[in-house]
Amino acid sequence: MIRFEHVSKRYADGTTAVDDLSFEVNAGELVTLVGPSGCGKTTTMKMVNRLIEPSAGRIFLDGDDISEIDPVKLRRRIGYVIQQVGLFPHKTVLDNTATVPHLLGVRRAEARARAAELLDLVGLDPKVFGERYPEQLSGGQRQRVGVARALAADPPVLLMDEPFGAVDPVVRDHLQTEFLRLQRTLGKTVLFVTHDIEEAVRLGDRIAVYGQGRIEQFDTPAAVLGAP
Ligand code: ADP
Ligand code: ADP
Repeated sequence: MIRFEHVSKRYADGTTAVDDLSFEVNAGELVTLVGPSGCGKTTTMKMVNRLIEPSAGRIFLDGDDISEIDPVKLRRRIGYVIQQVGLFPHKTVLDNTATVPHLLGVRRAEARARAAELLDLVGLDPKVFGERYPEQLSGGQRQRVGVARALAADPPVLLMDEPFGAVDPVVRDHLQTEFLRLQRTLGKTVLFVTHDIEEAVRLGDRIAVYGQGRIEQFDTPAAVLGAP
């Protein structure tokens, strides 16, 4: 589903963030990228949705070289959730979730109906939360809206960059449980960045363990933890 072939990223200031990465993520698989700050996880993610371009190597999405996919089309194929989800402050929760499909051509009423379903799916009752504004939500609720919004275009791939990193541990635990169920239900292919090995183990079908700019181990949680 996602394939990296000898991908490197050197930033303009000479920093090599990612060095000769090759790996493959299967359809429906949830892969966690774990490692200390600065080891290249976010750079890896941003190259998948073309927020940055690799300096070398190629990335394939379902066999298509992503450098040849139109960026608008890419947004239908890849959803993106970051640590501090940036919601539109002057739009309601429902409209925040419905905006992208609407921009992509879905009729507004239909986009809003679908948005209500998605809010339900991520554990926010649309009747209670749909007409609220982002500032009226807790951090964890905002992250849920971020997940709903990323799902709105029904992309087969989700990129999640520490999506639950800024919420308190109890809420994070809930979000992890619900996200796992959601991912199993929807069958999305997920790349999930975390610096928390427990989160990586709990969520990942496989774990990519990063060292400086490289993946040092790419295996199941049991293998990474050294179980027999
Ligand atoms: P992680 O997500 O694992 O914390 P990043 O991919 O954000 O790591 O960063 C990898 C390395 O690239 C770090 O050394 C970081 O400082 C550097 N880096 C990230 N973005 C830029 C940039 N825009 N310009 C220069 N260096 C950068
Ligand atoms: P904001 O709403 O503040 O723009 P987002 O969290 O939606 O913040 O996105 C952060 C950045 O990533 C923005 O520049 C946005 O355009 C971009 N982005 C969001 N989703 C995608 C995607 N699926 N593919 C590519 N870029 C995306």
